[in-house]
Amino acid sequence: MIDKSFKKLIENSSNIVVFTGAGISTESGIPDFRSPTGIWKKYQPIEFNDFLSSETIRIEAWRRKFEIDKNISKAKPNIGHMAIAKLVKDGKVKNVITQNIDNLHQDSGIPSEIIIELHGNTTYAKCLDCGFKYDLSKIMKEFEETNKPPYCNLCSGIVKTATISFGQAMPEKEMNLSQECSLSCDLFIAIGSSLQVYPAAGFPILAKKNGSKLIILNREKTDLDIYADLVINDEIGSFLSKNIN
Ligand code: NAD
Ligand code: ZN
Repeated sequence: MIDKSFKKLIENSSNIVVFTGAGISTESGIPDFRSPTGIWKKYQPIEFNDFLSSETIRIEAWRRKFEIDKNISKAKPNIGHMAIAKLVKDGKVKNVITQNIDNLHQDSGIPSEIIIELHGNTTYAKCLDCGFKYDLSKIMKEFEETNKPPYCNLCSGIVKTATISFGQAMPEKEMNLSQECSLSCDLFIAIGSSLQVYPAAGFPILAKKNGSKLIILNREKTDLDIYADLVINDEIGSFLSKNIN
């Protein structure tokens, strides 16, 4: 369906922030968290402190990670990601804030400098002490051989995927950047997020309270719909590809 109000809001804006959640990647074959087929119907999340304090829990975290990776590692950007990349190319979108960890915005051709990853990235790992980055393929091979979680070769610190877990501090630089662009944008579009995870879900409200227009595109209703200038309950890929061209 062509949505004239959506097109008009895009047309009238020159500094758009796109904010995405797991819903934009379900059409790439990566399940979200809260839908009936979401990951949480299968697993309870592992808290950061439990990951730190127990090797048994770290083994379980890595086992799950490699299971979930079977979907993520072969996923490709879908028509929803490509429609956003088009808005970036046209100079309309200045920043993409994402809660996703799947690297699919980068894979769609959006320059990584303008992508703000609030919850990190699951396509590589990092030492929690010295920050050294690790490729996952080597970690996976060693994990399969030894069933032991990885430690840093440089400082013996605990190695974890470069994602932000529940109970782990939010990344300061990304939080500041998200705040800055939410304050300066003239249109904020939240796509495929249940908008229940804070502080991430605070950015649409911040933008709206500072004079930006707000669009929410999601299959289901969200608690922030009351703040929005336009709420679209539709499938992301088909909607965006029909309305961004
Ligand atoms: P969520 O699971 O809470 O919400 C996703 C929303 O998207 C739901 O309301 C669902 O109805 C909607 N949705 C799903 N597919 C859709 C489609 N095709 N069209 C329209 N709507 C659709 O996700 P969230 O708000 O991003 O929060 C969950 C957290 O989980 C995030 O912080 C994120 O870090 C993490 N996560 C990331 C990925 C990923 O990187 N792809 C996947 C799962 C979870
Ligand atoms: Zn280290």
